[in-house]
Order: sequence, then structure tokens, then C-alpha cells
Amino acid sequence: MKKGNFLTYNPEETEALGAELGATLAPGSVIALSGDLGAGKTTLIKGVAQGCQAAAGHEVNSPTFTYLNIYPGAKPLYHFDLYRLKGVKDFLDLGFDEFLASDGICCLEWAHRISDLLPKRTIFIHILSIDPTSREITIS
Ligand code: ADP
Ligand code: MG
Repeated sequence: MKKGNFLTYNPEETEALGAELGATLAPGSVIALSGDLGAGKTTLIKGVAQGCQAAAGHEVNSPTFTYLNIYPGAKPLYHFDLYRLKGVKDFLDLGFDEFLASDGICCLEWAHRISDLLPKRTIFIHILSIDPTSREITIS
């Protein structure tokens, strides 16, 4: 698995980093993303979807109004945006914990809303905006 600090200078580079990571992910991987609005979380997940060959023919957008988008594939990708989630209880009430235990790949924007539920194997990615087009991306 790719780990460390990476600098990107445009959205395409962030997507490419996501694709590299996506290609190496084992079934059942969980990726917790943090970083401000507009940092590039959705952009990176777009790359992960390409890398793990999910979402063929599907548009990868921010699921802001739905909490969850599913991109089917051999390794399906479950793309969560928990920005509007109030807490762990809502996540559990919607039955979403099932996805964390599945064979698919889970990518969660604003994952700290459910930090208590994240498995030990979780890959953490923080994206920091340095200027309008530079991002520091930390994978741990
Ligand atoms: P988030 O999901 O974190 O709110 P998005 O991925 O939806 O962020 O949006 C990131 C925005 O920042 C896009 O408008 C994108 O074009 C822009 N951007 C500029 N430079 C970069 C970069 N190096 N990496 C990612 N996005 C970038
Ligand atoms: Mg987003």
C-alpha cells in the first residue's frame, strides 16, 4: 500500500494518485478522508474508482445529498459523504455499518463523524490545500 506525503499541483495529479492507490487495494479496504470542503477528497476518490475498476460508465460525483453512492464492479466502491451526518447513530440506523464489513472498497469523506466505527485496517488520507491548485496529501 502507498503511504507517505505527496504533493499534487492539479486535480489530474490527485486523481492519478488515487488511481495508483485504488489499483493496490485489497477487498474490504476502508479509506477515511479528511480535509476542508474543496480540498480534493471527491477528486481523489474518482481516481480510486478508476484504479479499482469500479464505476465503469458511472459518473463519480460528491454524494452530498444522499450520503452514499455505489459504483458497481468486481470490487464495488461505496462512496460516502458524511458531511451532513449528525453522528454514529444515524449511520447505524441506515444500516451503513454493513458496508464497512463487506468485500467492497469503502471511501468515506468526513469519516471522523463515525471514527468509533472505523476498523483497525482503515487507511487515513488527509488533504491539505496549500494554494488554489497545490495539495499536500498524507496517506497513513
Ligand atoms: P472535496 O470533495 O474535498 O470537497 P472536490 O474534490 O469536490 O473536494 O473539489 C476539489 C476542487 O479543487 C476541484 O474544484 C478541483 O478542480 C480543485 N483542485 C485544484 N487543484 C487541485 C489538486 N491539486 N487536487 C485536487 N483538486 C484540486
Ligand atoms: Mg466531496
